[in-house]
Amino acid sequence: MNNEGLLFVISGPAGAGKGTVVNELIKDDNIRISISATTRAPRGKEQNGKEYFFLTREEFEKDIDEDGFIEYASYLGNYYGSPKKPVQQWQSEGKDVILEIEVQGCEKVKSKMPDCVSIFIMPPSMEVLEKRLRGRGTETEENVLRRLARAKEELPLAKNYDYVVVNGPIEECVADVKAIIKAEKLRSKRFDFDGYMN
Ligand code: 5GP
Repeated sequence: MNNEGLLFVISGPAGAGKGTVVNELIKDDNIRISISATTRAPRGKEQNGKEYFFLTREEFEKDIDEDGFIEYASYLGNYYGSPKKPVQQWQSEGKDVILEIEVQGCEKVKSKMPDCVSIFIMPPSMEVLEKRLRGRGTETEENVLRRLARAKEELPLAKNYDYVVVNGPIEECVADVKAIIKAEKLRSKRFDFDGYMN
């Protein structure tokens, strides 16, 4: 047992509502959300350093060469990666860290850090997913169709995750994810028996 924070991986198809869940979770001061790097262009009002670090392919590949990512993956033609340093720093400070990443990235994190906890956010149905993607109004029709096709590939992989949460009413989904985080922190293997006895 040590006092390191836990690492949670949250995945789910684009439009499943992961962003909304994560925005609720950061209100907890013991939780930190990793800001990913990506080579995709900013969407809508996204700002560099807030939603993502927007990098060129050259910059991203330089970071790969310098072993700067916990994991990275290619998604619909762009790189996405989780910078290593802030995550290690936060965990060493005892903060729980959330990586909001896609399925290939989750596989990589699991193989490197088997102690991580993985949560898949499932849309209530494909119809709702499509509606949410179109409702964003920031995607071209081509992108909506590509994201939907990708979602169909990703959904069956939910069975590889530790937990699956269906995102119907958002408050319920957030409450479910908070319950998972809480329960994971109370696992006996994380209890400081030595500290307790002394
Ligand atoms: P979007 O372009 O909609 O922001 O993200 C597309 C997908 O990339 C989402 O499924 C999102 O979870 C995932 N993603 C975001 N950051 C990372 C990352 O650092 N690594 C990986 N593997 N996937 C990411």
